[in-house]
Amino acid sequence: MSDFWRRALVFPFSLLLLSLVVWLFSSALPAAVFFGVAMSLRLFFHLRNLAAFDKWLTDPEGQAVPEGYDQWEDAFSQLNKLIKRYRLEQKQHLSALQQMEQAAAALPEGVVILDEANRIEWCNPLAERHFGLDGGRDIGQQITYLARQPEFVRYLTMSNFTEPLVLRGRHREELVLSIKLIAYGANKRLLISRDITHLERIETIRRDFVANVSHELRTPLTVVNGFVETLCDMPNLENDMARRALQLMGEQTSRMENLVDDLLTLSRLENAQNALHEEKVDMPELMRILLEEGRSLSGGKHRFRTEIDSEESINGSASELRSALGNLLSNAIRYTPPGGEIVLRWHVGADGPVFSVQDSGIGIAPEHIPRLTERFYRVDRSRSRETGGTGLGLAIVKHIVNRHQAVLEVASEEGKGSTFSIRFPDKRLWVETKSPM
Ligand code: ADP
Repeated sequence: MSDFWRRALVFPFSLLLLSLVVWLFSSALPAAVFFGVAMSLRLFFHLRNLAAFDKWLTDPEGQAVPEGYDQWEDAFSQLNKLIKRYRLEQKQHLSALQQMEQAAAALPEGVVILDEANRIEWCNPLAERHFGLDGGRDIGQQITYLARQPEFVRYLTMSNFTEPLVLRGRHREELVLSIKLIAYGANKRLLISRDITHLERIETIRRDFVANVSHELRTPLTVVNGFVETLCDMPNLENDMARRALQLMGEQTSRMENLVDDLLTLSRLENAQNALHEEKVDMPELMRILLEEGRSLSGGKHRFRTEIDSEESINGSASELRSALGNLLSNAIRYTPPGGEIVLRWHVGADGPVFSVQDSGIGIAPEHIPRLTERFYRVDRSRSRETGGTGLGLAIVKHIVNRHQAVLEVASEEGKGSTFSIRFPDKRLWVETKSPM
């Protein structure tokens, strides 16, 4: 029998025993009266304790737990211990929460916790500043009611958040934010915002600087090149050394002109204001033009083949695509020794529309492949220079590919050859719309 029951039964048994003694020495009636009165007093005692407990329950925070007697004393003392433990735990949780909040407030990034319907559950002070929120007032509000930029709203509805969104204010002096959404828990999302205004400004200055320098260099280079060509063509230039020097000057100025042209092309492509000019690009026709250009560039040193198994066209910029595909073709020619084969392919299949250039050239070791589209990254610097490369061709291709939401894929094996493919999204296929009658 538990201690509780042992102690609880002491009183009724003692009373019963006493009543039996009364009965023994007197009669049944006084014994029954004695038992009844004593039990009523006991009941009153319990009710009093219960009333004290009930009173305490009405405001447990504001008053101490009642003291009580007998078993009530034990029960109230247990309750008191429980409450003390609960208050201590509450204090510890509160302090941990405060520490978390202080850490979140000190974060150099804005943080917003969103539920599955994009309602704000919590945000730190930096996020309040980034999105113009009020942490007190806006909890429970949909973030898209408060931050309404269409690209932001679109980003929140996407399912793939691997790439951050760069959010620019409408005015030049406004913040530029890099935004990333991270899913966690059950349907919860963490919105992280980073102020990249300063980085963007530096990037704009860098871009403007490169564009301006390239532009300024163009005219003097054209003039110098023109004079060098005129001097080379002079019939009375007999000195071999002078002729050789002029020839070298001509080659170097042409290289610089190519470099300046490529830098200007890159600046144009990088310029966010320079929207993609979309039109119908007849891919089979473009392939035929490329083939002719390739043959003349190779000067008969390579074999060419085309595999065109679709007549479909692409919706994109004809001049940009011509430049990108031309760059891939010229690389294939430059990095394939004479006698090699170059195949141009245009294929529209289950895996989408794909343009590719395959060569049987020198190939590329796997460790270089991820870096090929970096500016001035060359596997073999001297070979690139000897063949008139600027080191910017694939950087240009990458930009153009991105502007068409396509992907550049490279498959290569050293000594065997390479295949550079541009995989377009299906939505880039040209759809003929009938003009209204
Ligand atoms: P470059 O003007 O030097 O050719 P690119 O940006 O066009 O610059 O190419 C970067 C580097 O990638 C090249 O220097 C070369 O090492 C490598 N590369 C590009 N295309 C090919 C190819 N078809 N075969 C082998 N290497 C290639």
